[in-house]
Amino acid sequence: MGKPLIIANWKMNFSVLEAESFAEFFVKNFTVSNVEPVIAPSFVFLQSVSSIFKSKVSLAAQNVSEKSKGSFTGEVSVDMVKPFCKYVLVGHSERRQFFSESNVLVAEKTLTILSAGLIPVICVGESADDHKWGKRDSVLLDQIQAVLKKVPQLDWSKLIFAYEPVWAIGSGQTPSVPEIEDAVSFIQKITLNHQQVLYGGSVSSKNAKEILSISLLSGLLVGSASLNVKEFLEILRIASNLRK
Ligand code: PEP
Repeated sequence: MGKPLIIANWKMNFSVLEAESFAEFFVKNFTVSNVEPVIAPSFVFLQSVSSIFKSKVSLAAQNVSEKSKGSFTGEVSVDMVKPFCKYVLVGHSERRQFFSESNVLVAEKTLTILSAGLIPVICVGESADDHKWGKRDSVLLDQIQAVLKKVPQLDWSKLIFAYEPVWAIGSGQTPSVPEIEDAVSFIQKITLNHQQVLYGGSVSSKNAKEILSISLLSGLLVGSASLNVKEFLEILRIASNLRK
């Protein structure tokens, strides 16, 4: 296993000044080495924070258009984010829920991201209802198979999946360690064990150690806890101590 990947999803938070002061504090205080921190800021901060983070942090876009260019008002293309980003989040549950992104659209975006030479982090996970009715596996299967149908098998090893149960996002609830283990091994089985899987959903410095003890996991996707720079640094320190 390589360095754990710990991704901060800032969502639609911070002003540019707040984003820059987070970045300045971070570069002064980030001292651990065997972990890869990734920040996913708003598109409009990518350029300014990348000049502060430099090589200490990789950046991710929170989304991109499936189209490469043209008359698509308000959209952002993969070539526009490429100078700053190594990763792109795709299919986050908030995009699926509030912007009606379908499994097919997520698959098209994944292909666009791969064609640009960037790494897609594909978010998958079941809703509270699906969880209640025991439909986790069929939801994961539909979400993942849509992607695998579009992406040539040769490229499957470039995909990163983030298991993010929708009911765990922002709720303070997390699945148990055996439940996460089971979901991760299910994802790996569907994808022929080719790719890395992250966990996301109410991760904080309080539970990061327990969750990262799952050896199948390649890292974490952190939402609200990543908005506090000291808390995010603490999660990185925990990850680095565990995977030495
Ligand atoms: C997310 O939205 O990707 C996420 C993991 O959020 P939170 O950590 O706030 O649950």
